[in-house]
Amino acid sequence: MDIDLLFEVSKIDDEIKSLEKNKNVKEMAIKIKRYREEYERYKKEYDEISADINEIESTINEITEEIESIDFDIKKIEDKLYSTSDLKTIDMWQKSLEQKKCQVFKKEEEVYNILERLDKIKKDKEKILNKGKEIKNSYNLLREEYIKVTKEINIRMEELNEKRELLIGEINDLIVQEYENIKNVKGYGMRVLKGEICSGCGMDVPTVIISEAKNKRKITKCPHCGVILYIAD
Ligand SMILES: [Zn+2]
Repeated sequence: MDIDLLFEVSKIDDEIKSLEKNKNVKEMAIKIKRYREEYERYKKEYDEISADINEIESTINEITEEIESIDFDIKKIEDKLYSTSDLKTIDMWQKSLEQKKCQVFKKEEEVYNILERLDKIKKDKEKILNKGKEIKNSYNLLREEYIKVTKEINIRMEELNEKRELLIGEINDLIVQEYENIKNVKGYGMRVLKGEICSGCGMDVPTVIISEAKNKRKITKCPHCGVILYIAD
């Protein structure tokens, strides 16, 4: 009978609606977006820290080259020192030698401090790298799950729509039209009558209307909320 078929349609429509509103899928999509943003943040941080490390390493190289060049000067001065016997000159060279050695000492100390800082920064880089990997992993897992779930939903939707179309084809057009009109307004077009109560609005339905609904020869609506009432046999 049309009303029984229409009830099948309404069950399908309820399921379609709940699939469309699937909270789980929406939450997953939001989480995926968050993971992606978080990953981008870590990637940016990682790039920045890598650039910092490069800069520090080139500073170390520069200072090391400076030390080598001063060491070279020191060697030259020492050579000269042994090749002269003039005391004044020796004194002058010696002073210069002291100065250069002091410079080397200061620069070596500088390198040592920078190396210490570099060590700490490299550890930070490692932490960022691991955190980034962790986030990417969670992102990939969730994305896989999301694709799987949405695929399942789409398959179910297709099944439901196919079934719906077949059912609709067997029901009187006017009845279908009336059902669609109510559904467009209320979000659903048909509700079960539980005893004397309309499960759409929860109100008592008069006996006359209940027997009309039992009859199933035509559409019976709830006098309170207007949905089509259905009584299971
Ligand atoms: Zn009602």
